[in-house]
Amino acid sequence: MIFDVICNELKRRVPSDEYARYIIPLKFLERPSKSNLIVLEAPNPYIALYVENRYGHIIADFFEKESGTRPVVRIKARNAEGKKSAEFPSISENQSIKSTALNISYTFDSFVVGHSNKFAHTIAKALSENLGSAYNPVVIFGGVGLGKTHLLQAIGNAVQAQKKIVTYRKCENMLNDFIEHLRLQTMDRFREQYRNCDVLLIDDIQFLSGKENFQEEFFYTFEELHSRSKQIVLTADQPPKMIAGITERLKSRFMWGQIAEIQPPELETKIAIIKIKCEIHKINLANEIINYIASKLDNNVREIEGVLNNINIYCSMLGRVISLEVAKDILKNYLKDKLENITIDNIASAVAKEMNCKIAEIKSKSRVKKIVTARNMIIYLARKLTQNSMPLIAEYFGMKDHSAVSHAHRSITKTVDNDADFKLKIDALASKITEKGEK
Ligand code: ADP
Ligand code: MG
Repeated sequence: MIFDVICNELKRRVPSDEYARYIIPLKFLERPSKSNLIVLEAPNPYIALYVENRYGHIIADFFEKESGTRPVVRIKARNAEGKKSAEFPSISENQSIKSTALNISYTFDSFVVGHSNKFAHTIAKALSENLGSAYNPVVIFGGVGLGKTHLLQAIGNAVQAQKKIVTYRKCENMLNDFIEHLRLQTMDRFREQYRNCDVLLIDDIQFLSGKENFQEEFFYTFEELHSRSKQIVLTADQPPKMIAGITERLKSRFMWGQIAEIQPPELETKIAIIKIKCEIHKINLANEIINYIASKLDNNVREIEGVLNNINIYCSMLGRVISLEVAKDILKNYLKDKLENITIDNIASAVAKEMNCKIAEIKSKSRVKKIVTARNMIIYLARKLTQNSMPLIAEYFGMKDHSAVSHAHRSITKTVDNDADFKLKIDALASKITEKGEK
């Protein structure tokens, strides 16, 4: 039964007294087949709010890991007639809920600093030591799995240690709160929760896109906090000015302060991150294996963690120390799964777009330099990213035999080896295609 599995996962990750108090009383209500919603029931609104804030992400993580899509986790309170209002937490209880919603392992100490995230890290540290003064607001942006949430929560944990009031919320959950308070006509409580704090941390503000009423409320929250010099820190998956469907006045506020990008980690940073994760999860890996994983996996740190997790499960099941061969095997399967969705067509469209030419031209017999390069790039990427054989690739281009494909492959591989700029370009294209193929 799925709920038992979730409970086991929570048991591992939740302190035992909290587990007995908050998790055992939960009831699994539904997971409607096509919706992305998981609903659990708690005995009262206090436990519901507490579990959703503090442990909702563990449940969501778990499902994401199992099914590949991240669900929205809702914890509803059981309808206990007559008792409802009495069981709502008082404002002071409510405050302790807000302040405990952070993952305590996301600290500055456990965050590896490298070239790719140095600026964002410096700003984050500086603002947590000097709230609301130099940089306000701060927006941290970057791709998936690059450490934005980690850094945002590290700020929260550091500020909380100074006994200041922190409100951390994923933007999506803030929207849910907004809708719920509107429905219950308790907007004053919503405002109390989001405005009565020393620092407001909102994760993934791209979620504001297209939600006009919510943006309006967000705007007033922002104005009020900012005018009282309360610190605001936001994260987004792209630069704020690029997020579509956000009003200009809100965008302009986001750009008042400091914007910091996190880029994909370079090899050394990846190695350092793997080491720290191994330490945290008590996984024992030889350096050559760590280097191997870092060099094979691209840049999404969450993905790297997933692989470590697999290795860990494998080792503990077999009671073995992991060897390089086993790590290679696990990684091979992992990369194969990831690449299975990619076709030559995907690659051809990406290359055509990049090279600004038409697929029909590439498939023609044209010997124009740009077209030949595009053709060779497709051959190179098809060999790298798909299981297609040379004859299959030849068939795609309507060639009679595959020796021309082999020849083109040798020639382009030489270019990639000798021309660093070209290598960068084709690697970036490969990452773009791989990301799309994953969806
Ligand atoms: P994002 O919010 O950008 O999608 P997360 O903050 O959720 O990414 O990071 C994904 C995982 O990778 C987390 O477990 C986080 O701890 C880890 N991670 C990312 N960057 C770093 C880093 N520089 N140092 C340590 N861990 C990191
Ligand atoms: Mg995040």
